[in-house]
Amino acid sequence: LVRRMRPFGTTIFAEMSALAVRTGAVNLGQGFPDTDGPAEMLAAAADALRGGQNQYPPGPGIPALRAAIAGHQRRFWNLEYDPDGEVLVTAGATEAIAAAILGLCEPGDEVVCFEPYYDSYAASIALAGAVRRPVTLRPADNGRYAFDPADLRAAFGPRTRLVLLNSPHNPTGKVFDAAELALIAELCQEYDTYAVTDEVYEHVVFTDADSGHVPLASLPGMWERTLRVSSAGKTFSCTGWKVGWASGPARLVAATMRVKQFLTFAGGAPLQPAVAVALALPDSYYDGFRADLQARRDQLVAGLTEAGFGVLSPEGTYFVTTDITALGGRDGMEFCRALPERCGVVAVPTQVFYDDAEAGRRLVRFAFCKRPEVLAEAVSRLRALA
Ligand code: PMP
Ligand code: GLN
Repeated sequence: LVRRMRPFGTTIFAEMSALAVRTGAVNLGQGFPDTDGPAEMLAAAADALRGGQNQYPPGPGIPALRAAIAGHQRRFWNLEYDPDGEVLVTAGATEAIAAAILGLCEPGDEVVCFEPYYDSYAASIALAGAVRRPVTLRPADNGRYAFDPADLRAAFGPRTRLVLLNSPHNPTGKVFDAAELALIAELCQEYDTYAVTDEVYEHVVFTDADSGHVPLASLPGMWERTLRVSSAGKTFSCTGWKVGWASGPARLVAATMRVKQFLTFAGGAPLQPAVAVALALPDSYYDGFRADLQARRDQLVAGLTEAGFGVLSPEGTYFVTTDITALGGRDGMEFCRALPERCGVVAVPTQVFYDDAEAGRRLVRFAFCKRPEVLAEAVSRLRALA
């Protein structure tokens, strides 16, 4: 194995899902829904499969999907992208992020990101020979995660090539607010850097959040330096389809495409027309999806609180982070490895998403994108811990 990949073992998601299968525990670890997405989308995929759309699609994605991606961003975020040249379909958000970093970063370039970070970021940055400059999010007194603006300023420098921003943020559930985004935008312009934004949870912001979702690309001076990434997996509950996309100015999309064509070339032929159908669903779909998740968040937050966890209620995403100190937990990794044995539930230790593992030592993440009866069963098992 090459040196630059040696620090990366098996991903925590694979480890914890395997543990759930082995022990028969309720799996609130890896974030995937346990119900299917919209029926119209599933029907369109079946039609495309039977209708012979089973060969290579065009590398950048089929025109109908690229048009639907552009239409969706105009409709929800008032952002304009030309489907020909400013939109690229990828194998999930994961490929879009990897290809963007590989296409934009020279060895030694620096990537500013916030920790805890989604685990593929560190590996993609390492594959490019680039260097990550994490800024730590910490639980604040108001129950939100926050960063110190001085830390962010200190992370930027002459080698900064891009900032990689995930909002709504996995695993903390933080939605970056206007002031935070404005500071990020100011620094990107001061240091003349790009931004790659991971917005896979763009439709999972709860109605009681302090801030709605604001794409960084919509701030003054940012459209022309931002590559926006999203995915069908979360919004349409089809994480196994791995249909994602990137949109941005043509030069950033072209750099990403140059790499993408040699990673996968293309993918998901019969799924692409189906995702185009899903993106055009009426607002009632998107509102219902969010309302469902909000009810599940409330259910799990209440249950975890009763079970004795210190709960940091999320403003978005389908994850909730908890502090295990009050339950006698000292280390999230040990706690999660023992949890199936102790009470038949799987969760994810968030320390693995930090360079500064100490900052996340006692934090554990639970996913609530599950049926209410599954959440109820998990909560009743977790109560045995108290
Ligand atoms: N970014 C974040 C923040 C995620 O949580 C996930 C996965 N769930 C991804 C990217 C990966 O998305 P995809 O499955 O579309 O590759
Ligand atoms: N994004 C999901 C999570 O954070 C799972 C991703 C994966 O398994 N690679 O749990």
